[in-house]
Amino acid sequence: MCNRLSMANTWVSIASSKLPSTTSCTGAWLVLNYVCNCSCVFCPATGLQPPFKRLDEIRAGIDRAASACSREQIEFSGGEILLHPDLPDAVQYAKIKGFRRVHFFTNGILFSDLRVCKRYTDLGLDSVMVSIHGATEETHEGLMRAPSGSYRAVWKAIDNLQMLGVGVTVNCVVTGLNIAEIPQLMEQCAMAYPSINQLRITYPAVEGEIVTRQELLVPFEEALEVLTPLSRCPESLNLRFELFPFCVLGSLTNLSVEWLSRHQTSYFEEFCSLRYRRVLGKECVECPHKTTCHGIQEEYIRRFGAPTCFCKNGDRTGSARSHI
Ligand code: SF4
Repeated sequence: MCNRLSMANTWVSIASSKLPSTTSCTGAWLVLNYVCNCSCVFCPATGLQPPFKRLDEIRAGIDRAASACSREQIEFSGGEILLHPDLPDAVQYAKIKGFRRVHFFTNGILFSDLRVCKRYTDLGLDSVMVSIHGATEETHEGLMRAPSGSYRAVWKAIDNLQMLGVGVTVNCVVTGLNIAEIPQLMEQCAMAYPSINQLRITYPAVEGEIVTRQELLVPFEEALEVLTPLSRCPESLNLRFELFPFCVLGSLTNLSVEWLSRHQTSYFEEFCSLRYRRVLGKECVECPHKTTCHGIQEEYIRRFGAPTCFCKNGDRTGSARSHI
């Protein structure tokens, strides 16, 4: 493992940082389809409709996005985005509308074919986030209920993308079934640097199957016991946390995706309102971070109670929570 693990953690606490007085909308995130070639146990999009947006709908969405933001980046997501037959047209249209960077969020399986990678890099693809949900084939393919060979396929995809100069972020959703493998996954990703330039650890949406399968959801405290030591190696891999409440992350807050993007907003349509549904409690009312933090999901509170590190004001029952 890299010797950068011994580096001191120099992140400042959120209490010593100031929130920006203004934000700007710099990019956009559009969901083009809900169809997927996997069926991840934590996927909040399972069963949503329509299977594919039509090209005219996609173009209209890109038009709205172009008017709403400064067009630094557009992200296309699904479902599995590479299954959309009109994705090449969407990329071309986004470029015509002036988006400087095009980013895909994909499970990576289809990018194991170099010709598919090349097709999109020729059109202007700049960066990709791929999913790797474990350090072993068994865990990754089990959580994704993916076709056999998918784990090897995603690593092949990373090689292909690196060869073509495309920046790769790896996204791993934390569950009770893969948490023990995350340190090993981080080692694997660190060894693949600079092919992989970021490892993102995402807390799942507490919805759908994850609610009924008790073994999938990990309490924040338990997750952070495993994840906190990883933060001693921030520069090796650009470690990031997503959808963890700021007050739970504590001194790791400056590694939070939401914290780092607090100066910016993105233009979203539909699916994001589900995946990124914000649920804040009365404890959050006085919190200076309530406009950026996603809060803590109701189902989490029902299962585990409010975390002990939750806002110190008010009661911690979570009984008076509200959606915003
Ligand atoms: S008190 Fe609420 S808004 Fe503030 S950091 Fe915690 S969960 Fe987020």
